[in-house]
Amino acid sequence: MPIATYVSSGLHMVPFSGLQAQRKVLGPRIESAIQRVVDHGQFILGPEVARLEASLAEYTGARHVVTCSSGTDALSLVLMSKGVKPGDGIFCPSFTFCATAEVVCRAGAMPVFVDVDEATFNMSPASLESAIGDAKRLGLEPTGIIAVDLFGVPADYTSINEIARKNGIWVLADAAQSFGARSDGRRVGSLAASSATSFFPSKPLGCYGDGGAIFTDDDDLAQEILLRRVHGQTQDRQNSVRLGMTARLDSIQAAVLLEKLTLLNQELEERQTVADYYAKELCDICIVPSPAKNIRSAWAQYTVRIGGHSRDQVADYLKARGIPTAVHYRRPLHRQTAYEMFPTPRGGLPVTDRLSAEVLSLPMHPYLTPSDLQAVTSSVRSAIESCRAT
Ligand SMILES: *Cc1c(COP(=O)(O)O)cnc(C)c1O
Repeated sequence: MPIATYVSSGLHMVPFSGLQAQRKVLGPRIESAIQRVVDHGQFILGPEVARLEASLAEYTGARHVVTCSSGTDALSLVLMSKGVKPGDGIFCPSFTFCATAEVVCRAGAMPVFVDVDEATFNMSPASLESAIGDAKRLGLEPTGIIAVDLFGVPADYTSINEIARKNGIWVLADAAQSFGARSDGRRVGSLAASSATSFFPSKPLGCYGDGGAIFTDDDDLAQEILLRRVHGQTQDRQNSVRLGMTARLDSIQAAVLLEKLTLLNQELEERQTVADYYAKELCDICIVPSPAKNIRSAWAQYTVRIGGHSRDQVADYLKARGIPTAVHYRRPLHRQTAYEMFPTPRGGLPVTDRLSAEVLSLPMHPYLTPSDLQAVTSSVRSAIESCRAT
């Protein structure tokens, strides 16, 4: 249907992303920041990169921040620096974006899938413990855990860190979706021994292309990561002492992020306001997210559950009424072709399978207007009611 038809029929089109609206606020400042980089010409590891790393360290409380080329490369840099190798079993959820397990396979190790918690959608500590036992029986060496902060909610690091400690293995937080979130007042980036985030444009803090960062308090690990970010080369670039990558963050992206970081806390508040409104309006008609009291989500996504096999019908109904939605993730990793051969717990991943059939992400960003919100909630309500009636 052409856009003009929507307009003439008076349909309220709700934007799924807030990036265009954000440009109205920050656009001129970002453009002059980019212009400054173009003028000084230090495109690689220019002064903006060091300034951004210092700002991110201050924001998160992490001792070391290493920016890099993407969230995926952030995960890879940690795995390389940890010396992950064939025969290692790395525990991760299946209900996540593919990059979480992809980096494990690329390091030659084996992802071992763990089920998630029904309420938080994040790694279940109980399932993790039994997966560690299963992996040992399979002859794998349990080496590390990649927990994912799905949709912006930090995983249960208190439990996960304790299980890791008992088993002598490490924890890496895949915080690609949760930059800015807090747990007990502590920011993401300081909740696990190392954390990796993404600055992909649609993440809570996004740049104008690909970007990422790693956070750690571990001096040795930070040093290894820095080496591997640029071909494992020593400072004088005369000797490669490790195998590495080309995984730097561009100065232009750092300049963009420095500007956006100044607005992040306000944007997180606005996302929280949207989440509170959705929860109040929708809690009686579908399952809404309800993070624990000690958690402040970054609200990368607002994801409800619609049971009774009507999720896709509801999404179609909303689409026809100008309300875009998304399904993260329709196919969990253990059901995707490249990952279906990897181990899952003996009882399967029942919560992961149930969630992937029921989840629906609604528009969530700081620039939704009151009429957007009203349009979303009233349409979701009538969509669910009409699907139940049929
Ligand atoms: C986005 C995302 C990544 C990858 O980040 P990129 O910057 O796109 O490489 C990894 N893990 C999760 C959970 C993500 O959502």
